[in-house]
Amino acid sequence: MARRKKIYEGKAKILYEGPEPGTIVQYFKDDATAFNAEKKDVIEGKGVLNNRLSEFFMTGLNQIGVPTHFIRRLNMREQLVRNCEIIPLEVIVRNYAAGSMSKRLGIAEGTQLPRPIVEYCYKDDSLGDPLVTEEHIAAFGWAGQQDMDDILSLALRVNDFLSGVMLAVGIRLVDFKIEIGRIYDGDFQRLVVADEISPDSCRLWDIETGQKLDKDVFRRDLGNLTDAYSEVARRLGVMPKSAVAKPTLIN
Ligand code: UDP
Repeated sequence: MARRKKIYEGKAKILYEGPEPGTIVQYFKDDATAFNAEKKDVIEGKGVLNNRLSEFFMTGLNQIGVPTHFIRRLNMREQLVRNCEIIPLEVIVRNYAAGSMSKRLGIAEGTQLPRPIVEYCYKDDSLGDPLVTEEHIAAFGWAGQQDMDDILSLALRVNDFLSGVMLAVGIRLVDFKIEIGRIYDGDFQRLVVADEISPDSCRLWDIETGQKLDKDVFRRDLGNLTDAYSEVARRLGVMPKSAVAKPTLIN
């Protein structure tokens, strides 16, 4: 294949120019980072699993009419997506208290919330992605009022879909993060779910045992990350366990 132009390299993915205008190739790396990249490792097989899992969730969302950037998977580690302008917000939806919310508000991890709570963080690694309010978002022009209405509606639809899909395989969707992109169609713009949806960006707990099947396994040194992600993939029927390379840790 001819060498492609690299557009951007992030912590877990590389973006290349796509084959047609308006498209991008997302390459899923095996790199795992946490705590704003203070903790780092290479976890063989993670990229392959996240590529498949993100394909599965994005395809499901497209099928129920929730627009996403996803076009199709290209190979084990790459998928073709629509090029979009990413709104600089991490949109977090929480069904149960965990992580930063538990710390911030002193609510025990695992406490069911009275209703899904949506939070916004400003995407800026140098600032550690701080929590912001809709006031900041409006005042600094990161998104307009119509965008915010659309983002909230997208986030809650993704939450309903993902919660249901997970519940069906005995997994609790504790919380997740999505990113939203703008796509311009002539004079119109529409918002789509972008980036990825994978166990890197969700908290997934086994309903029976409470076992963590997400990136907290890496963040908190709870065991083998590819085993956890493979278990999610296996339950969803996305990928047989044998198809995932035997995990080895490379420092
Ligand atoms: N999250 C993410 N990327 C980030 C920050 C958070 O994907 O940069 C996800 C995280 O995996 C979890 C949810 O967003 O599913 C809420 O994360 P939280 O605010 O509790 O932060 P953390 O405890 O991970 O620092």
